[in-house]
Amino acid sequence: MCGITARVADDDSLRSLLTCLENLEYRGYDSAGVALLDGTDVDVTKSQGKVDGLKDRVLAGDLGGGIGIGHTRWSTHGPPSDENAHPHTDCTGTIAVVHNGIIDNHDELRDSLVDAGHTFTSDTDTEVVPHLVEDLLDSHDSTAAAFRAAIDSLEGSYALAMIVEGEQKVYATRSGSPLVLGVDDRSNYLASDVPAFLDFTDRVVYLQDGDVATVSADDYRITDADGDPVQRAVETVNWSPEDAQKGGHDHFMAKEINEQPAAIRQAIEGRIDGTDVTLQEFPPGTFADVDAVQIVACGTSYHAGLYCAQLLEKWGVPVTTQFASEYAVSPPPVDDSTLVLGVTQSGETADTLEALAVASEHGARTLAVTNVIGSTAARRRRRSPRRWRR
Ligand code: GLU
Repeated sequence: MCGITARVADDDSLRSLLTCLENLEYRGYDSAGVALLDGTDVDVTKSQGKVDGLKDRVLAGDLGGGIGIGHTRWSTHGPPSDENAHPHTDCTGTIAVVHNGIIDNHDELRDSLVDAGHTFTSDTDTEVVPHLVEDLLDSHDSTAAAFRAAIDSLEGSYALAMIVEGEQKVYATRSGSPLVLGVDDRSNYLASDVPAFLDFTDRVVYLQDGDVATVSADDYRITDADGDPVQRAVETVNWSPEDAQKGGHDHFMAKEINEQPAAIRQAIEGRIDGTDVTLQEFPPGTFADVDAVQIVACGTSYHAGLYCAQLLEKWGVPVTTQFASEYAVSPPPVDDSTLVLGVTQSGETADTLEALAVASEHGARTLAVTNVIGSTAARRRRRSPRRWRR
C-alpha cells in the first residue's frame, strides 16, 4: 500500500502537495517524491526515506509549479531506494507517473518496451507505465487517448496519476486501488484517500474502477476506458479531523474491520504470480527444538496474538499470550527452547521491544512479527543472552 496525490492549480502546488503527502504517510513511508510542472518542464525530486526528508530538500531548493504529483512508497517491486522511489519517468523525462498497486504483467511489458528501445532506471513494476505512454503517444491523437491505451495493456491493481511536459493537467485512473478527487474553486486534488486533502477542500468525487480523469485547475472530466463521459456525484464530507482519521466510520474498529479485505489483498498481492503463491520460508529445522511459545504484544497485536495462540495450540505447542508491558516487568520462566514472539505492526512499540529484549536476556529465542522492514523490531539482534534461573 502506498499513497498517491496530485494538485492542479494556478498558484504554486508544492506546499499543499507536501501536506497531502504527510497526511498519506500512514500508507507508506519507505520513500517519497514529487514531480512538478514548472512552466513547461517536469521536475522530479524523490528519495528513500520519509516525507520530512523530502520536505527539507525541496523547500531548500527552487522547486515549484502549479501542477504536481506526489507519492509515499511502500515497496512491492524493488527495494526502497532513491531510484525506485516514485515518480517514475519515461526515457525523455517528460512524462512522470505515481502509482499505488501492482502491475502483474510488468515483466512482459518491460521486455517488449526494452526490445522497442526503452531504457529503464528502476526495478519497479510502475516504470512500465510512463514508457508505455511514451510509446503510444505518436500513434494516438491525444495524451488522454495514449493514457487510456496504456491502461488497457495493464493487468493488476493500480491508482495512477500522470503529468506530461507542457500540459496544464493531471491524468488519473484507478482499478483495484483507491483514488478520490477533491474539488475546489481554483484548484483540484487527487489522493488515495480523503483526509489527504481535507485541509483544503471537503468536496469529493469518489472515482470508480475504470474511471479515467483529466483534471485541470478549474475543471475535471471523467470518462470510461473508451473515452465516453461518465457522471460522478460531488459529495461534501462533513468530517471532523477525528472523523477523517476514521475514514467516515463510526469507530476505528469499524474502519479496521472494513479495511480487512483490502489489507489482506495488499499484503498477499506481491506474493502471487498467476496461480503460484510464494511465501518466503524459514530454513528447515529453525523451530525444531522449540517446545513452548510466548507471544508478547499490545493493543490489536495482542488480539492477533490470542488468535495465533489458538492456531499454534492446535499443533500441540504450549502457547501463552501476554501484554508486552506486563511481560517486560514480570517475565515467566524461559530457556533456549522457548520462542518469544513479539507482534508489533510498526516494529517500534516500546513495550514489545522491551519484552523481547528481556526475553532475550533471559535466554529465550526471539522472533519479531512486524509490517515494517528496517524497524527496530526487525533489525534488533539478540541482547547478550544469559540463562535465567527458574
Ligand atoms: N508497486 C509499486 C512499487 O513497488 C507501488 C507500491 C505500492 O503501491 O505500495 O513501487
